[in-house]
Amino acid sequence: MRQPVGRDTATAGELFALVRAGRAATRADLVRLTGLSRTAVVARVSALGEAGLLRVGADLASTGGRPPGSLELATDAGTVLAIAIGRSRSQVAVFDLGGTELAASAVDHEVGAGPDLVMPGVADQLARLIGLVTPPVLGVGLSLPGAVDTARGVSVDTPVMAGWDGVPLAPYLTAVAGEAPLFLANDADILARSEYLGHAAQARDLLVLKASTGLGLGVVADGRIVTGALGAAGDLGHTKVPEAAGRPCRCGDVGCLETIAAGWALVARLREEGREVEHVRDLVAHALAGDPEAKQLLRESGRMVGELLAVAINLLNPRAVVLGGDMAAAYDVYAAGVREAVYARASALATRELQFLPATYGDRAGLVGCAALALDEVLSPGAVDARLRSLARVGG
Ligand SMILES: [Zn+2]
Repeated sequence: MRQPVGRDTATAGELFALVRAGRAATRADLVRLTGLSRTAVVARVSALGEAGLLRVGADLASTGGRPPGSLELATDAGTVLAIAIGRSRSQVAVFDLGGTELAASAVDHEVGAGPDLVMPGVADQLARLIGLVTPPVLGVGLSLPGAVDTARGVSVDTPVMAGWDGVPLAPYLTAVAGEAPLFLANDADILARSEYLGHAAQARDLLVLKASTGLGLGVVADGRIVTGALGAAGDLGHTKVPEAAGRPCRCGDVGCLETIAAGWALVARLREEGREVEHVRDLVAHALAGDPEAKQLLRESGRMVGELLAVAINLLNPRAVVLGGDMAAAYDVYAAGVREAVYARASALATRELQFLPATYGDRAGLVGCAALALDEVLSPGAVDARLRSLARVGG
């Protein structure tokens, strides 16, 4: 059972969070959930209304049928920007405060391009999108492949993202985001965050595989995304496996799982055989069209990844494993390979109730997750209280 929030002491920001989470729809709900007096709730709610974050009572009369004191998130009070940087294509979007996508676009770039090549294109696309949308930008969520330092907001020590290490990204976005804060996360962690809003919203223990050009794993343990001491948690693709012995990896090392199971390696293998494939999405398209060789490669990748997932499953005992990323778009083929290895290797108890699920938002998962990251930060109780304090200072 959920605890009352800060009984007798709940702040306006905490009240706002209850409305945002759908747990309170009226002032009476807030009184009941927080133990605050009705007078205290009315004062906090009117401060949130004046700040433009909530719509209250009379303003909602036109919607009809609402009880007095009804509350609603003012989803149009601002926007957040979502930026999912990929190896060869980046997606950008604008979301309202309710998490609804208002406009989206994609930018293609060369594989391995650094921030000086990628980020100006990203900013240009966002400038075009924002031109269609008027509310102020309150925050930016951005995902990158590889390890990231979430506190400093930079990519760290990852040869796979050469040129991005330690480079501050906020300055590239000043023209579109102004002073709005930038929040950064690893792409597999962002995929995991999108699942909080999806199939796995109720699962407190979850593994989320991103099987695309690279291989990454988002780890949710006891309801929290685990990033690890140096941001390298879930860096599954660069685990050394015997079948890959001696094969050079794009990380600069040899013998990594990626050299035999990542999208980039499978594409390279097909190209060596004279097949016309540019990107892992082409490989997936062939598989979906029934090409036996493409299907075989994807199933084998799933099987090899599944062998390592089995260890993670025995460690974490997750409720579900979500298979996302470009390769998992051929879900049946990929999941068959993963399942085969997991059931052969993981323990009977850890797999007894284990579910395998496709990523809820498919190829939009990166944008959904980036928006959720930014919204959870800029609409957190602490951030909302700080906003009210600064408005009070300006007003007083
Ligand atoms: Zn490697």
